[in-house]
Amino acid sequence: MIPCGHQSIAQKEIDAVVETLQSSWITQGPKVKQFEQALADYCRVEHVVACSNGTSALHLACLALDIGVGDDVWTSPISFVASANCALYCGANVDFIDIDPDTRNISISALEQKLERAKQTNSLPKALVVVHFAGLSCDMEVISLLSKTYGFYVIEDAAHAIGSRYKNSYVGSCRYSDMATFSFHPVKNITCAEGGALTTKSAALASRIRQFCSHGVTRDCAKYLDQTQGPWYYEQHQLGFNYRMSDIQAALGIVQLERLDEFVAKRRQLAHIYSTRLDSLPLKLPVKINDKNDRAAWHIYVIELPDVQYRAKAYDWLSKQGIGVNVHYYPIHLQPLFRKKGFELGDFPNAENYYSRALTIPLFVDLTGEQQNKVIRILEEITLLEDKQ
Ligand SMILES: *Cc1c(COP(=O)(O)O)cnc(C)c1O
Repeated sequence: MIPCGHQSIAQKEIDAVVETLQSSWITQGPKVKQFEQALADYCRVEHVVACSNGTSALHLACLALDIGVGDDVWTSPISFVASANCALYCGANVDFIDIDPDTRNISISALEQKLERAKQTNSLPKALVVVHFAGLSCDMEVISLLSKTYGFYVIEDAAHAIGSRYKNSYVGSCRYSDMATFSFHPVKNITCAEGGALTTKSAALASRIRQFCSHGVTRDCAKYLDQTQGPWYYEQHQLGFNYRMSDIQAALGIVQLERLDEFVAKRRQLAHIYSTRLDSLPLKLPVKINDKNDRAAWHIYVIELPDVQYRAKAYDWLSKQGIGVNVHYYPIHLQPLFRKKGFELGDFPNAENYYSRALTIPLFVDLTGEQQNKVIRILEEITLLEDKQ
């Protein structure tokens, strides 16, 4: 069996986790601090808050921006449901922007048109959650300009994009956004088993995020409203959550982060091999990244088959031969929860068309040449057979 994605855990990670288990801190302590600092250094960003997973990171981002009932948040229909759920947790409305069929990220022209219409009807969003699909960064410079023109916040859902670059900055630097969120689930480019993080340039946002991440409680006595209590005292200022990361998770994350550049190099190499060897088959492949400054971290490799039946056959055939395949993603607006809110088939045609033909093939750091050859060979067989019919 060749899985679709898989974590790469070496002895170093095992040793780091065991060492933490043998120390006196296993919940949030020095390892989380160290992980946050390492991530800040990597992304070249001022503030990092580690948290329990990518979904809680997105929720914290919305909380920090005070998103609530009556607000609108826009995102991509081709993402994991968490990109939209974060706004629903806060009582806000969610809407979507159709994708660009080539990058599979939100379409800039669709965004511009939707913003112009929203301006006329006084229904501009409070925040836009952009998703760097498969690790390919959205055009953040343009999105940042639009955010200034129309007045909305930008959250980057960078769950696919740790280690990716956009122009001359790392995704997570927040050069063109208010915040970025990461996930360290094992299918992502680095893992903490479960884990997440937010990055921001804003000290004020970072401080709000920290408070919401730990019950809305502060232990900073300078901020206390009641100064008469003793050293045991803490104060709750907001309704927060327990979204903290543990030192065990952080110990794993620290070592994974040290290996990230090596992981990204390997993913790029594997993606390049697919792009070269699948080029002559009747498949639509991910856009080639020619500009040296636009460097994706290749979280997943998605091919598009000619039609929906062909995709179903390819999925079955590959699965039967022990190749792990997947579909990223069923459009969020078509999920029953969102249909109940009034979305329907036809709302975002590029997303729907992409979904009907998409197939994610194996891509992970420890994928061997032999395994990759097998995936390519089976894809060649499928397309040849289909051509004869
Ligand atoms: C994985 C993922 C998330 C959620 O992360 P978890 O750590 O699983 O909560 C959110 N957005 C995208 C795009 C993802 O791929």
